[in-house]
Formats: sequence, C-alpha cells, structure tokens
Amino acid sequence: MIRRTSKPLRIGKVTVGGHAPIAVQSMTKTDTRDVHATVTQIKELEDCGCEIVRVAVPDREAAESLATIKKEASIPIIADVHFDYRLALGALKAGVDGLRLNPGNMGDKEQIARVVAAAKERQVPIRIGVNAGSLPADFQPRTPLAERMVNMALERIRLMESLDFHLIKVSLKAFDVPTTIQAYQTIADRMLYPLHLGVTEAGLPRAGAIRSAIGIGVLLHQGIGDTVRVSLTAHPCEEVFVAYEILKSLGLRQRGPTLVSCPSCGRAEVDIIALAEAVSQRLASISEPLRVAVMGCVVNGPGEAKDADVGIAGGKGKGAIFRKGKVVGTVGEDKFLATIMAEVDSLIKKGTE
Ligand code: SF4
Repeated sequence: MIRRTSKPLRIGKVTVGGHAPIAVQSMTKTDTRDVHATVTQIKELEDCGCEIVRVAVPDREAAESLATIKKEASIPIIADVHFDYRLALGALKAGVDGLRLNPGNMGDKEQIARVVAAAKERQVPIRIGVNAGSLPADFQPRTPLAERMVNMALERIRLMESLDFHLIKVSLKAFDVPTTIQAYQTIADRMLYPLHLGVTEAGLPRAGAIRSAIGIGVLLHQGIGDTVRVSLTAHPCEEVFVAYEILKSLGLRQRGPTLVSCPSCGRAEVDIIALAEAVSQRLASISEPLRVAVMGCVVNGPGEAKDADVGIAGGKGKGAIFRKGKVVGTVGEDKFLATIMAEVDSLIKKGTE
C-alpha cells in the first residue's frame, strides 16, 4: 500500500504524519480533576503501549489539573476541549502537548484566533476534531453528512491558515462506518495535514473492535491515516490493544506477540480453545513481537507451528513443540501451557542478552 503523504508534526516527543509510524492513542476515562486517578490511568496506558493520551477538559478545575498531570506523564498529553475557548487557553498554559478542538461547538472567530495565537507561541498542534454528532444543525443542512463534515473541517483549516497557523491535524468521526470512510477519503485528497482516524462511539469491545477494525482498517489499507484512536466502552488499554491488532493485521506496526490459533474442529484431540485463551492471557503482558501458534492437529498444525517463533501442534492427548521452525519435543496436554510459556520466556531472554 502507498501511504498518503502528510505534513508531519510533533505532539511532544511523538511525530505524527510524514513517514513516522502510525501513532496509537487513547483517552483517559477518569475525572481529570482527580489528578491521582488520571495519572494512574495514564501510567497504565503507558504500560500497555499507548503513545499519546488525550484527557477531557470539561471545566476550569480540570484545566488546572493538567499542569500536574503533565509533569507526571511520560507520554504526550492532548487536551480535549469543547464549547469554551478559555479552557483551551488554560490547557496551553498548563503545558499540554496538543489540543483537540471541536469546530462544531466552538465557532467564534475571535476566540479561535486567541487560542491559535497561544498555540502558535508554544508551537502546540491543534486537531480539528469534527464529530458527526455535534455538527451545527444550520451548517449546510441539505449537504450529505460526509461532505458536511469535510466542509466543516476545510472551513476551519482555512481560518487557521489565515492566522498563519499550520500545526494542524484533522479527524472526521462518525458512528456510521461508510460515512466515516467516505469523509476521510474525501479530505485526504484536499489537504496535506495528518489525519487522526477513529470511528466514534463504536460500542462495547466485541462490536466496537469490529466497527473500528473495518473503518480504520479500510482507510489504513488505502494509505490514509497517521494516528489511530479506537473508541470503546471499556478500559482504555482495550482500545490500545485493538489499535495494535488493526495495525499488526495490516503489517503497519508490531507490538506484542501475535497469536495464531486454529478455530478447532472435530479433528482436534486436545482442548485448543482453553489452551489458546490461557496462552493469550499469559502473552498479554509481553511487548516483544513474537509469533506464537496454537494448533489443534496435524492438518495445518505443523505448517503454522513451524512458521511461528514458538508453536504447538496437538495430537492425541499430546503435542509437538516447535521453536523457530524445529520440533524440540513432545509433551502431554497437561504440560502444554507451561512448555509454551517456558519457550517464550527463553526466546525473550535470548533476545535481550
Ligand atoms: S488445525 Fe486441525 S484441529 Fe485445528 S481447525 Fe484445522 S483441522 Fe481442525
């Protein structure tokens, strides 16, 4: 796939756009005024591989909390601001690395000019975060939704450019996946700024991961997108996990192990579903990009297991263990999990020696 060329910008230490890896971001779900809870969740996000974190700034107290939150965090912080431009000014003063403004609910040109001036002084990028659900009802009401979203973003881009501000990132999120895809495809050809991809309010993890994978995945496969946020009604690390799975599926990023497991069928003579679940849980805390295969029988088992760093191909109550394509032993079903994990640990140890 050929990636769309966008104008790179820096969110703190992370480059977004250009040839930089597609950055994974998420959002805290704590009360931002509760500094301890928010910092704790940011640390959890750092541990699960999140590269940029956004925090909601609903009021002045939340904006003031950002200074402490920023000091404690190791990843860049983006302030999410709606309605009140003074909160954006407060967030900038607190030292955030980026702003997200919703053009649908912040439209006063003078107020925007004040925020832009303060962001420019600090060289802090602003995301124009268009959301289908918060477009003003009187904004081009007869135009199709995807186009309205694009036009709203382009209008705001022109305003910012007229203020000589170019540290811009854009998102066009809708719940409806085809609308989201169409909006991003349309704007991708009309400007050079980096694109933040997401399908908004995607839902609970199972359905939300699928909606996000389709919306974000289609766009990424077309070379569109520079940073990704998966929105799920769940702990934010679930969002990060799904984002990496999408990126890994397209060969765009590698983080953590990839589990190859067969669906099991009437040929399996070992409990593959229970084993794959257990292995997946044990692999969750590993960040090394390993490929681990859990296969039920000899049909595809040895082939997949051989391609993996560590693999098992089940047989009758026992299984062949593979390491880097070579059979290194046969163990009984009760030893599957322990043996696979011992092989994984030894590979990681070797890799870090
Ligand atoms: S690898 Fe074997 S057990 Fe697994 S789905 Fe294929 S045929 Fe069935």
